[in-house]
Amino acid sequence: MLDLAIIGGGPAGLTAGLYATRGGLQNVIMYEKGLPGGQITQSSEVENYPGVCEIVTGMELMECWPKQAMRFGLRHEMQEVVRVGKCQDTFLITLANGEVQKAKSVIVATGSTPKRAGFEGEDEFFGKGVSTCATCDGFFYKNKEVAVLGGGDTALEEALFLSNIAKKVYLIHRRDKFRAAPSTVKRVKDNPKIELILNATIKKAYGDAMGLQGVIVEQDGKEIDLKVPGIFVFVGMHVNNEVLKQEDGSFLCEVNEWGEVVVDLRMRTSVPGLFAAGDVRSDASKQVVCAAGDGATAAISAISYIEDLGEDFRLC
Ligand code: FAD
Ligand code: NAP
Repeated sequence: MLDLAIIGGGPAGLTAGLYATRGGLQNVIMYEKGLPGGQITQSSEVENYPGVCEIVTGMELMECWPKQAMRFGLRHEMQEVVRVGKCQDTFLITLANGEVQKAKSVIVATGSTPKRAGFEGEDEFFGKGVSTCATCDGFFYKNKEVAVLGGGDTALEEALFLSNIAKKVYLIHRRDKFRAAPSTVKRVKDNPKIELILNATIKKAYGDAMGLQGVIVEQDGKEIDLKVPGIFVFVGMHVNNEVLKQEDGSFLCEVNEWGEVVVDLRMRTSVPGLFAAGDVRSDASKQVVCAAGDGATAAISAISYIEDLGEDFRLC
């Protein structure tokens, strides 16, 4: 029986592992289906992790995290978790290889995945001008022109954020009605630095080995060549909450209308002993430093949960 199972080995899961083992938990496994590090390892430039003064790649930033966490006894198993269930007070962790592991507590740190729009060149120039994170990459376009794709709350809020940095923001949306909240739409329409390009789609992104040089936009059967070095794609997020789905289709704990795991300030979910941390949880800021902070909080909460487990713990 594990004291704690951590699902996901990104910044949230690794920090949870560090705090849990250094805080005295003896039997802790972090299940990560790939190499530990998480989605930030896809980033070519990170300059907003506090205490790291040089611009580093995501790989460089995360290099030491597993070593540090494992020094205190964290074990990594390269396994995909299929499901987290609960029987009496015991959590049952079903792995892709069919094994079932038992644990007293669980931290879900499986992250989220930005969706891709699917235009030509999107993957080729991803990280070289195509981005899904304005907080991360917006600063690289200071006083330059950029484009944003999407018509939801994220696209419009990020367009407003980018308008504080960039010289001009083109907001490209495939319809003339927005999904975003009316107040956000009004702020966008009132912003002189944002130009709307509606009923329009991106046909392709183009550039060279140095990066993106522009996008070809299709509007009313005509093509517009938008010469921008940056395009931000905000066409929805996939929350990696599948491990919490039960056989009957319900979720083990409360999730909100967007599929994010609802937590309180101590990262506790609606199920005692089950915690969530990082991008997968509700109201996440979706930044490495925030995910790491969540992981620490979740581990501290898990330690006190286990300390409080009495003799009446019901083993399944
Ligand atoms: P993730 O990092 O997503 O880690 C989740 C881990 O869980 C993954 O490794 C995944 O393989 C694993 N996993 C998922 N499901 C399972 C399962 N069923 N079984 C086993 N393992 C599983 N943030 C910044 O602060 N600054 C930046 O400059 C920045 N730039 C970014 C650039 C890019 C291109 C991207 C994509 C993101 C960027 N971010 C940046 C955001 C940052 O990467 C995330 O906020 C952060 O990684 C979230 O950490 P996490 O631990 O919650 O989730
Ligand atoms: P979203 O609401 O699903 O919006 C995605 C947008 O992208 C839509 O406008 C959609 O167009 C467009 N789109 C989808 N696929 C596309 C494609 N292949 N090519 C071009 N455009 C495409 O996603 P989101 O904005 O990330 O928001 C997700 C959820 O979080 C929403 O429920 C949102 O309200 C919520 N959220 C809330 C806040 C807040 O309350 N402050 C902030 C951020 C997010 P169509 O409109 O034509 O479908």
